[in-house]
Amino acid sequence: FQQAALDHLGIDARFEARPVPPEDFAAAVEALRADDELGGCVTLPHKHAALELMDDVDETAAAIGAVNTIVNADGRLKGYNTDAPGFLRALRERAGFDPAGSSAVVFGAGGAARAVVYALRVAGVARLAIANRTVPRAESLAADMTDGGFRPTALGLQRDELADVAPFADLLVNATSMGMAGGEAASASPVPAELISGDALCYDAVYAPPMTPFLLAAEDAGARPEGGLSMLIYQGAEGFQLWTGEPAPVEVMFEAAEAALRAR
Ligand code: NAP
Repeated sequence: FQQAALDHLGIDARFEARPVPPEDFAAAVEALRADDELGGCVTLPHKHAALELMDDVDETAAAIGAVNTIVNADGRLKGYNTDAPGFLRALRERAGFDPAGSSAVVFGAGGAARAVVYALRVAGVARLAIANRTVPRAESLAADMTDGGFRPTALGLQRDELADVAPFADLLVNATSMGMAGGEAASASPVPAELISGDALCYDAVYAPPMTPFLLAAEDAGARPEGGLSMLIYQGAEGFQLWTGEPAPVEVMFEAAEAALRAR
Protein backbone atom coordinates (compact mmCIF):
# COMPACT_ATOMS: atom_id res chain seq x y z
CA PHE A 1 0.00 0.00 0.00
CA GLN A 2 2.97 2.34 0.50
CA GLN A 3 4.17 1.63 -3.05
CA ALA A 4 0.66 2.28 -4.38
CA ALA A 5 0.68 5.66 -2.61
CA LEU A 6 4.14 6.57 -3.96
CA ASP A 7 3.09 5.58 -7.49
CA HIS A 8 -0.20 7.45 -7.19
CA LEU A 9 1.64 10.70 -6.39
CA GLY A 10 4.35 10.05 -9.00
CA ILE A 11 7.10 9.93 -6.36
CA ASP A 12 10.13 8.12 -7.74
CA ALA A 13 10.83 5.87 -4.76
CA ARG A 14 10.64 2.17 -3.97
CA PHE A 15 9.21 0.67 -0.77
CA GLU A 16 10.97 -2.65 -0.21
CA ALA A 17 10.38 -5.43 2.34
CA ARG A 18 13.66 -6.51 3.92
CA PRO A 19 13.62 -9.51 6.27
CA VAL A 20 16.36 -8.78 8.82
CA PRO A 21 17.53 -11.21 11.53
CA PRO A 22 18.29 -9.53 14.90
CA GLU A 23 22.06 -9.89 14.46
CA ASP A 24 21.93 -7.82 11.23
CA PHE A 25 19.48 -5.20 12.48
CA ALA A 26 21.99 -2.51 13.52
CA ALA A 27 23.70 -2.68 10.11
CA ALA A 28 20.34 -2.49 8.31
CA VAL A 29 19.44 0.66 10.26
CA GLU A 30 22.89 2.18 9.63
CA ALA A 31 22.33 1.72 5.88
CA LEU A 32 19.29 4.04 6.10
CA ARG A 33 21.66 7.01 6.55
CA ALA A 34 22.58 6.87 2.84
CA ASP A 35 21.68 9.93 0.72
CA ASP A 36 19.11 8.04 -1.35
CA GLU A 37 17.21 6.54 1.62
CA LEU A 38 14.08 8.28 2.95
CA GLY A 39 13.88 6.00 5.98
CA GLY A 40 11.99 2.86 6.89
CA CYS A 41 9.37 0.98 8.84
CA VAL A 42 10.28 -1.40 11.63
CA THR A 43 8.21 -4.35 12.67
CA LEU A 44 8.45 -7.39 14.94
CA PRO A 45 10.77 -8.08 16.70
CA HIS A 46 12.86 -4.93 16.18
CA LYS A 47 10.70 -2.06 17.46
CA HIS A 48 12.47 -1.78 20.81
CA ALA A 49 15.97 -2.33 19.38
CA ALA A 50 15.31 0.48 16.88
CA LEU A 51 14.78 2.96 19.71
CA GLU A 52 18.35 2.43 20.91
CA LEU A 53 19.84 3.06 17.46
CA MET A 54 18.26 6.47 16.75
CA ASP A 55 19.99 9.87 16.91
CA ASP A 56 16.66 11.45 17.92
CA VAL A 57 13.42 9.94 19.21
CA ASP A 58 10.08 11.73 19.19
CA GLU A 59 8.07 12.08 22.38
CA THR A 60 5.45 9.44 21.50
CA ALA A 61 8.02 6.78 20.61
CA ALA A 62 9.99 7.53 23.79
CA ALA A 63 6.87 7.19 25.97
CA ILE A 64 5.82 3.94 24.28
CA GLY A 65 9.35 2.53 24.26
CA ALA A 66 9.21 1.47 20.62
CA VAL A 67 10.03 2.92 17.20
CA ASN A 68 8.10 1.74 14.14
CA THR A 69 9.06 4.52 11.70
CA ILE A 70 12.54 5.85 10.94
CA VAL A 71 13.18 9.07 9.04
CA ASN A 72 16.55 9.85 7.45
CA ALA A 73 17.15 13.60 7.73
CA ASP A 74 20.49 14.27 6.00
CA GLY A 75 22.16 11.29 7.63
CA ARG A 76 20.56 11.72 11.08
CA LEU A 77 17.98 9.09 12.00
CA LYS A 78 14.87 10.08 13.92
CA GLY A 79 12.53 7.46 15.34
CA TYR A 80 8.76 7.80 15.58
CA ASN A 81 5.90 5.61 16.73
CA THR A 82 2.96 5.99 14.38
CA ASP A 83 0.99 3.02 15.76
CA ALA A 84 -0.50 5.22 18.51
CA PRO A 85 -1.77 8.10 16.32
CA GLY A 86 -2.73 5.57 13.63
CA PHE A 87 -4.89 3.67 16.13
CA LEU A 88 -6.58 6.86 17.36
CA ARG A 89 -7.31 8.04 13.83
CA ALA A 90 -8.77 4.61 13.01
CA LEU A 91 -11.04 4.79 16.06
CA ARG A 92 -12.21 8.31 15.30
CA GLU A 93 -12.46 8.27 11.51
CA ARG A 94 -13.36 4.66 10.67
CA ALA A 95 -15.33 3.73 13.78
CA GLY A 96 -16.67 7.17 14.75
CA PHE A 97 -15.59 6.53 18.34
CA ASP A 98 -14.17 9.21 20.63
CA PRO A 99 -12.42 7.52 23.58
CA ALA A 100 -12.59 10.60 25.87
CA GLY A 101 -14.31 9.70 29.14
CA SER A 102 -14.93 6.09 28.13
CA SER A 103 -14.16 2.81 29.85
CA ALA A 104 -11.80 0.48 27.95
CA VAL A 105 -10.23 -2.96 28.14
CA VAL A 106 -7.04 -3.66 26.19
CA PHE A 107 -6.04 -7.30 25.66
CA GLY A 108 -2.28 -7.77 25.36
CA ALA A 109 0.89 -6.23 26.78
CA GLY A 110 3.31 -6.37 23.82
CA GLY A 111 4.33 -3.63 21.39
CA ALA A 112 0.88 -3.05 19.91
CA ALA A 113 -0.74 -2.90 23.36
CA ARG A 114 1.84 -0.36 24.54
CA ALA A 115 0.93 1.92 21.63
CA VAL A 116 -2.82 1.41 22.14
CA VAL A 117 -2.69 2.10 25.90
CA TYR A 118 -0.59 5.21 25.35
CA ALA A 119 -3.01 6.42 22.66
CA LEU A 120 -6.01 5.88 24.95
CA ARG A 121 -4.28 7.79 27.76
CA VAL A 122 -3.62 10.73 25.42
CA ALA A 123 -7.24 10.58 24.21
CA GLY A 124 -8.57 10.88 27.77
CA VAL A 125 -10.01 7.43 28.50
CA ALA A 126 -11.51 7.48 32.00
CA ARG A 127 -10.95 3.84 33.04
CA LEU A 128 -8.62 1.28 31.52
CA ALA A 129 -7.93 -2.39 32.27
CA ILE A 130 -5.05 -4.29 30.65
CA ALA A 131 -5.67 -8.04 30.36
CA ASN A 132 -2.82 -10.30 29.31
CA ARG A 133 -1.94 -14.00 29.39
CA THR A 134 1.26 -13.17 31.30
CA VAL A 135 -0.06 -10.97 34.12
CA PRO A 136 3.31 -9.46 35.20
CA ARG A 137 3.67 -7.98 31.68
CA ALA A 138 0.23 -6.35 32.06
CA GLU A 139 1.27 -5.04 35.48
CA SER A 140 4.47 -3.62 34.11
CA LEU A 141 2.66 -1.89 31.21
CA ALA A 142 0.07 -0.49 33.64
CA ALA A 143 2.86 0.89 35.85
CA ASP A 144 4.70 2.42 32.87
CA MET A 145 1.57 4.18 31.63
CA THR A 146 0.30 5.41 35.01
CA ASP A 147 0.22 9.19 34.91
CA GLY A 148 -1.62 11.40 37.42
CA GLY A 149 -5.22 10.23 37.60
CA PHE A 150 -4.72 7.70 34.78
CA ARG A 151 -4.15 4.40 36.58
CA PRO A 152 -4.70 1.30 34.44
CA THR A 153 -5.46 -1.94 36.26
CA ALA A 154 -3.89 -5.27 35.26
CA LEU A 155 -5.43 -8.72 35.11
CA GLY A 156 -5.22 -12.10 33.38
CA LEU A 157 -7.37 -13.59 30.64
CA GLN A 158 -9.30 -16.00 32.92
CA ARG A 159 -13.05 -15.75 32.52
CA ASP A 160 -13.72 -14.85 36.17
CA GLU A 161 -11.19 -11.99 35.99
CA LEU A 162 -12.56 -10.64 32.70
CA ALA A 163 -16.13 -10.81 34.05
CA ASP A 164 -15.30 -7.93 36.41
CA VAL A 165 -14.35 -5.50 33.63
CA ALA A 166 -15.20 -6.61 30.08
CA PRO A 167 -19.04 -6.38 30.23
CA PHE A 168 -18.77 -2.76 31.48
CA ALA A 169 -16.39 -1.52 28.80
CA ASP A 170 -17.41 0.88 26.01
CA LEU A 171 -14.31 -0.15 24.06
CA LEU A 172 -12.50 -3.49 23.86
CA VAL A 173 -9.24 -3.73 21.92
CA ASN A 174 -7.49 -6.94 20.97
CA ALA A 175 -3.78 -6.11 20.84
CA THR A 176 -2.64 -9.71 21.25
CA SER A 177 -1.72 -11.92 18.32
CA MET A 178 -4.73 -14.15 19.10
CA GLY A 179 -6.75 -14.57 15.92
CA MET A 180 -3.86 -13.73 13.60
CA ALA A 181 -3.78 -15.95 10.51
CA GLY A 182 -0.90 -18.42 10.67
CA GLY A 183 -0.23 -17.71 14.36
CA GLU A 184 -0.30 -20.26 17.19
CA ALA A 185 -3.70 -18.99 18.42
CA ALA A 186 -5.36 -18.28 15.07
CA SER A 187 -8.76 -19.61 16.18
CA ALA A 188 -8.85 -17.95 19.63
CA SER A 189 -10.53 -14.82 20.96
CA PRO A 190 -9.21 -13.11 24.12
CA VAL A 191 -12.81 -12.76 25.40
CA PRO A 192 -16.04 -14.74 24.86
CA ALA A 193 -19.18 -13.11 23.39
CA GLU A 194 -21.04 -13.46 26.74
CA LEU A 195 -18.68 -10.96 28.36
CA ILE A 196 -19.06 -8.26 25.67
CA SER A 197 -21.68 -5.52 25.99
CA GLY A 198 -23.94 -5.05 22.99
CA ASP A 199 -23.14 -1.32 23.16
CA ALA A 200 -19.37 -1.77 22.92
CA LEU A 201 -16.97 -1.06 20.07
CA CYS A 202 -14.62 -4.00 19.56
CA TYR A 203 -11.40 -3.07 17.74
CA ASP A 204 -8.99 -5.80 16.64
CA ALA A 205 -5.40 -4.75 15.88
CA VAL A 206 -5.15 -7.98 13.88
CA TYR A 207 -5.99 -7.32 10.22
CA ALA A 208 -5.56 -10.77 8.65
CA PRO A 209 -8.06 -12.33 8.49
CA PRO A 210 -10.49 -9.39 8.23
CA MET A 211 -13.00 -11.24 10.50
CA THR A 212 -11.15 -12.63 13.52
CA PRO A 213 -12.62 -14.82 16.30
CA PHE A 214 -12.70 -11.68 18.52
CA LEU A 215 -14.71 -9.75 15.92
CA LEU A 216 -17.04 -12.73 15.46
CA ALA A 217 -17.57 -12.77 19.24
CA ALA A 218 -18.34 -9.04 19.06
CA GLU A 219 -20.93 -9.69 16.36
CA ASP A 220 -22.48 -12.50 18.42
CA ALA A 221 -22.78 -10.06 21.34
CA GLY A 222 -24.49 -7.47 19.12
CA ALA A 223 -21.46 -5.16 19.53
CA ARG A 224 -19.69 -3.23 16.78
CA PRO A 225 -16.67 -4.99 15.20
CA GLU A 226 -13.81 -3.06 13.57
CA GLY A 227 -10.76 -4.78 12.07
CA GLY A 228 -7.13 -3.62 12.27
CA LEU A 229 -6.64 -2.64 8.64
CA SER A 230 -7.53 0.96 9.44
CA MET A 231 -4.80 1.15 12.12
CA LEU A 232 -2.31 -0.36 9.67
CA ILE A 233 -3.16 2.15 6.95
CA TYR A 234 -3.25 5.20 9.23
CA GLN A 235 0.05 4.34 10.92
CA GLY A 236 1.52 3.95 7.44
CA ALA A 237 -0.05 7.21 6.31
CA GLU A 238 1.73 9.07 9.13
CA GLY A 239 5.01 7.52 8.05
CA PHE A 240 4.37 8.37 4.40
CA GLN A 241 3.94 12.04 5.26
CA LEU A 242 7.09 12.02 7.42
CA TRP A 243 9.19 10.49 4.60
CA THR A 244 7.80 12.40 1.63
CA GLY A 245 6.37 15.62 3.10
CA GLU A 246 3.15 14.85 1.18
CA PRO A 247 -0.24 14.01 2.70
CA ALA A 248 -0.85 10.30 2.17
CA PRO A 249 -3.58 9.25 -0.29
CA VAL A 250 -5.29 7.00 2.24
CA GLU A 251 -8.09 5.74 -0.01
CA VAL A 252 -5.48 4.52 -2.53
CA MET A 253 -3.69 2.82 0.36
CA PHE A 254 -6.88 1.12 1.60
CA GLU A 255 -7.68 -0.17 -1.87
CA ALA A 256 -4.17 -1.56 -2.38
CA ALA A 257 -4.07 -3.22 1.05
CA GLU A 258 -7.55 -4.72 0.65
CA ALA A 259 -6.58 -6.14 -2.75
CA ALA A 260 -3.38 -7.62 -1.27
CA LEU A 261 -5.32 -9.22 1.59
CA ARG A 262 -7.90 -10.67 -0.81
CA ALA A 263 -5.08 -12.22 -2.84
CA ARG A 264 -3.54 -14.02 0.18
P1 NAP B 1 4.07 -8.87 20.68
O1 NAP B 1 4.84 -7.70 21.19
O2 NAP B 1 4.79 -10.13 20.35
O3 NAP B 1 2.91 -9.20 21.76
C1 NAP B 1 2.09 -10.32 21.58
C2 NAP B 1 0.93 -10.25 22.56
O4 NAP B 1 0.02 -11.33 22.25
C3 NAP B 1 1.35 -10.44 24.01
O5 NAP B 1 0.46 -9.71 24.84
C4 NAP B 1 1.15 -11.96 24.20
O6 NAP B 1 0.90 -12.33 25.53
C5 NAP B 1 -0.11 -12.17 23.40
N1 NAP B 1 -0.24 -13.57 22.95
C6 NAP B 1 0.49 -14.19 21.99
N2 NAP B 1 0.07 -15.46 21.84
C7 NAP B 1 -0.93 -15.65 22.74
C8 NAP B 1 -1.76 -16.75 23.08
N3 NAP B 1 -1.62 -17.95 22.47
N4 NAP B 1 -2.70 -16.59 24.03
C9 NAP B 1 -2.84 -15.40 24.66
N5 NAP B 1 -2.08 -14.31 24.38
C10 NAP B 1 -1.13 -14.44 23.44
O7 NAP B 1 3.27 -8.49 19.35
P2 NAP B 1 2.67 -7.04 18.96
O8 NAP B 1 3.65 -6.30 18.15
O9 NAP B 1 2.12 -6.42 20.18
O10 NAP B 1 1.50 -7.46 17.96
C11 NAP B 1 0.27 -8.03 18.44
C12 NAP B 1 -0.71 -8.12 17.28
O11 NAP B 1 -1.06 -6.80 16.84
C13 NAP B 1 -0.15 -8.84 16.05
O12 NAP B 1 -1.17 -9.66 15.51
C14 NAP B 1 0.17 -7.71 15.09
O13 NAP B 1 0.05 -8.10 13.74
C15 NAP B 1 -0.91 -6.70 15.45
N6 NAP B 1 -0.51 -5.31 15.12
C16 NAP B 1 -1.30 -4.63 14.26
C17 NAP B 1 -0.99 -3.33 13.95
C18 NAP B 1 -1.87 -2.58 13.01
O14 NAP B 1 -1.44 -1.56 12.47
N7 NAP B 1 -3.09 -3.01 12.78
C19 NAP B 1 0.13 -2.69 14.51
C20 NAP B 1 0.93 -3.42 15.39
C21 NAP B 1 0.60 -4.75 15.68
P3 NAP B 1 2.12 -12.73 26.54
O15 NAP B 1 2.64 -11.41 27.05
O16 NAP B 1 1.48 -13.56 27.56
O17 NAP B 1 3.14 -13.45 25.71
